[in-house]
Amino acid sequence: MLQASPTIHGFQVPGILDNVLVTLFADDTTVYLRKADRYADLILCLETWCRASGARFNSEKTEIIPVGSASHRSRVLTTRCLHPDDTPLPASIHIAQDGEAVRSLGAWIGNNVDNSAPWEATLDKVNHTLTRFLRGHPTLFEKTHLIQATVGGMTQYLTKVQGMPPPVEDALVKITRRFIWEENSSNPPIALDHLYKPATKGGLSLLDLKARNDAIELTWLRAYLDLSPHRPTWAFVTDLLLNVLAPDGIAEAALFNTFLQKWDVPLAGHRAARLPQDVLLMLRTARCYGVAFAPRKLSSALKRQLPAFYLLGAPPHTYIAPKIDCLIHEHAAKTIHDLLRVSNRLRDPPRFGTHHPRRNCACSDCTSDRHHGCANPH
Ligand SMILES: [Zn+2]
Ligand SMILES: [Zn+2]
Repeated sequence: MLQASPTIHGFQVPGILDNVLVTLFADDTTVYLRKADRYADLILCLETWCRASGARFNSEKTEIIPVGSASHRSRVLTTRCLHPDDTPLPASIHIAQDGEAVRSLGAWIGNNVDNSAPWEATLDKVNHTLTRFLRGHPTLFEKTHLIQATVGGMTQYLTKVQGMPPPVEDALVKITRRFIWEENSSNPPIALDHLYKPATKGGLSLLDLKARNDAIELTWLRAYLDLSPHRPTWAFVTDLLLNVLAPDGIAEAALFNTFLQKWDVPLAGHRAARLPQDVLLMLRTARCYGVAFAPRKLSSALKRQLPAFYLLGAPPHTYIAPKIDCLIHEHAAKTIHDLLRVSNRLRDPPRFGTHHPRRNCACSDCTSDRHHGCANPH
C-alpha cells in the first residue's frame, strides 16, 4: 500500500530504482518521509492496513527523527509538522532533537549524536561480568574464553551496526589486560600482542579486539564496494555523502565512487567532520589496509560498469574539462557503458551507414543529440 500510494514518495536516491520509503524487520517498521509527504497520508495507509490485518502500531513507541537541514529539523521540532500544511503530530509521538539518539534495531541513530554514549552501558556490563568471573579464579586459558564471550560477544553487534569509537576500543583493551594479569596489569609479564597469536606460535589465541573490529569494518567495505545488483541501499546513500567531499572542479554528474576515481575523501579536518562516524571508521580502515580497486581480470560486464571519467589509473590529461563537459551534461555519460552507447554509431555497422563523420550529420542519433544540446555530435 505504501509503495503504491500516490501521495507518499519517500526518499529518492540516485542509483536506486525504487524510492526509499519503508524498511521492515520483524515487528520494527521504519518509514522515510520527504518534506512534501504528509504524515496524515501515512496514518491513513497504516490504519487501513491495521483494520485488515488486525495488527496495531504502537504510537507510544513511535519516534521521529527529522532529516534535512538544521533549520528544517528545528522547524519540525517546534511546529510538530513535517509539512507546513499538516496538522501537528499527536503529543504521544516523540520527536528526537539534535544530539538525541534513537534506538533502531539495536543501533543508536540521530542527528549529531555522540557515538560513544551508547557504549557506556556495554562497558559497564563487560566490567561487571568480568569482575564476577574473577571471583572464580579462572586460569589464564579460561580467561581467554571469558574475554571472548564478554569483550568479544557483548560488543560485536553494536560494533557491526555503528562501529566502535577508538576510545572505547582502547578502554576494552585495557579491561582485557587488567582481567588477564590482574594486579600485575601495569607491568604484564607477556605483552597482549603475543597472547593474540595462536598456540602454535606460542600465544593463547586471545581475542585481538582491534583486528576483530577492523574485520567488521572490512565487511561493511566489501558491501559498499559491491557493484553487483545486490549492492545495498546504504551504499548508494554513502556515495552521496562522500561525493559532497569531492574536490571542486570535478563535475558532480561525473562523480561515481571515490574507490574507483582519481579523487580522495579527506579523513581528517573540518571537511571530514561532515561525515557520519560509521562512514569515517569504514574509510579509515580502508586506507589503513590499502584497499584499492585491483581486479585480477576485468570482465566486459564489469568494464561497462566502471566510471566514464576520472577513472583511477587513467594516464594524466585523460580528462580535459571543457572536452568532457558535453559528454557528462548533454549525453548523461556516467559509466563506460554510457560512453559506448554515445559512440555506438561509430562502431555499429548497420548504423554506420547512416552516420556521416561531419558536424552537420543528419542521422537520427546526431539529430537527437543536437536536440539535447550537443553542438557537435560526431
Ligand atoms: Zn550522425
Ligand atoms: Zn556532445
